[in-house]
Amino acid sequence: MTPEKQAAAQPALLPLPPMKWDAWGDPALAKELSADIKGLLAAALGVTGDAAPGPDASEVALRPSALTPDDLAALAAIVGEANLSTADADRLPRAGGKSTPDLLRRRSREPQDAPDAVVLPGGENEIAALLALCTERRIAVVPFGGGTSVVGGLDPERGDFAAVLSLDLRRLDQLLDLDETSGEALLGAGLTGPAAETLLAEHGHELGHYPQSFRFATIGGFAATRSSGQNSAGHGRFDEMVRGLRVVTPVGVLDLGRGPASAAGPDLRELFLGSEGALGVITAVRVRVHPVPAVKAYEAWSFPDFATGAAALRAVEQQDTGPTVIRLSDEAETMVNLAMTEKIGGEPAVSGCLAVTVFEGTADQVATRHRLTRAALLAAGATSLGEAPARAWEHGRFNAPYLRDSLISAGALCETLETATTWSRLADLRSAVTAALSSSLPNSLVLCHISHVYPTGASLYFTVVAALGEEPLTRWTTAKQAACDAIVATGGTITHHHAVGTDHRPWMTDEIGDLGVRILRAVKAELDPAGILNPGKLIP
Ligand SMILES: Cc1cc2nc3c(=O)[nH]c(=O)nc-3n(C[C@H](O)[C@H](O)[C@H](O)COP(=O)(O)OP(=O)(O)OC[C@H]3O[C@@H](n4cnc5c(N)ncnc54)[C@H](O)[C@@H]3O)c2cc1C
Repeated sequence: MTPEKQAAAQPALLPLPPMKWDAWGDPALAKELSADIKGLLAAALGVTGDAAPGPDASEVALRPSALTPDDLAALAAIVGEANLSTADADRLPRAGGKSTPDLLRRRSREPQDAPDAVVLPGGENEIAALLALCTERRIAVVPFGGGTSVVGGLDPERGDFAAVLSLDLRRLDQLLDLDETSGEALLGAGLTGPAAETLLAEHGHELGHYPQSFRFATIGGFAATRSSGQNSAGHGRFDEMVRGLRVVTPVGVLDLGRGPASAAGPDLRELFLGSEGALGVITAVRVRVHPVPAVKAYEAWSFPDFATGAAALRAVEQQDTGPTVIRLSDEAETMVNLAMTEKIGGEPAVSGCLAVTVFEGTADQVATRHRLTRAALLAAGATSLGEAPARAWEHGRFNAPYLRDSLISAGALCETLETATTWSRLADLRSAVTAALSSSLPNSLVLCHISHVYPTGASLYFTVVAALGEEPLTRWTTAKQAACDAIVATGGTITHHHAVGTDHRPWMTDEIGDLGVRILRAVKAELDPAGILNPGKLIP
């Protein structure tokens, strides 16, 4: 056996949560589509039959590690042998994120790309030493949190370098400090959502940040991508919870964030929120926490159409009535959700648009917030569907990504994209993106919901389902490009919460202008002079 084959055959050294390498999430929770749903896909979208199965992990040919024995010895000297691996079993799960294109690429029987090695540093000193070594030896570094990027943020791009290292933060998994008086916690960047909530719950506190990727994504990843959770009107945006950050860069360590507010010049925390591993490695995040809510209340609503529903959500947000969750599905999404959910209880919304509200807090706060929101929604044309559909939404909210895998296996392409704009432009943006997707993917289903609301606008989240067809990757890339062009032309942001990565990078100049790009490049040149950090991501 060659040394490369021996390395490839090594067992995984590094424990991972039960995430499939070629699909979403825990293998134990995989879902099968019923024959009825497959029949519907065939009739409505021309889905002609199951996709060819992809390879087993053991069948995947990875390009051998390009790191020299001397590089590996130097890396091991920093993190220890036990925290360095070139085994395929460790490289493959860190070969990219979890977008539909990522998953389609995993199904390929051609040789696949992956980082040349995986390191698990145990703290800031080791990260600083790794960055110094990689700068000196010209090795690219991709910081790796939970591996849930959907924008190519983890692609093992080497840039101008011969090799690329996956720097996995999972050992930074401690609750480092909890200031209950101030309501702040310092969390290690490698803590997953559930691990952070478990540690905080031991002290009666919570973060309350629940993106759909919650079970696997990390605190550092939330900060590095400006994640948004499903408590969309309560603790929605992670960047709004961040009080401080510790970041290790190739030229030094930053400890940012003093006090609850500051007038000490531009807020440098903002440079690292959304920096996607291109400017430094976030090692710890100081976040606002709050007591676990004592009471929750639920109510779902039906609106005759999307415009009426959107105006009602705007009224609630602008009157600041205080729901923790408020979201609205369009007609198509409402219909599909009802078809996919055999029984959600309550009075079914047979037509129109479904909205969900959830309220949290003390009993008094919940009663007041519920009453005020109810009044605003009823005045704006809502019909109450009772609490069952809202409870059903919460119960199943982490399940949809498993459905995407079943759809792909059944021969259907399924992907999502998101944007945001002002209330006055929302309808135009929705029409433009829907038209772009529908014309590039004829015979497709385009679903949309308002996922997050703000006083001045909202985000739109699209789901597209179509037949996989002959060249699914090319078909999706063309449709995504058309949708992104439509977003830019209609004044939306290229991403509300998925971040930039490689996929949205071509539109960054539209987003921030030439001068904005030059500023980012100048910051990168200062912090990462050799350009080792996550080449090819974020900055055009
Ligand atoms: C099924 C599914 C559902 C999703 N739902 C949501 C959602 O509801 N809301 C939402 O906002 N997003 C969602 N996402 C996108 C993704 O989960 C988020 O972007 C998440 O914040 C990424 O966290 P992570 O720990 O997995 O980071 P990773 O995917 O590992 O990394 C993301 C990017 O951040 C960089 N990075 C990671 N950690 C660090 C660090 N410590 N320091 C510096 N850079 C770092 C990486 O290099 C990469 O560029 C979803 C993704 C999937 C697959």
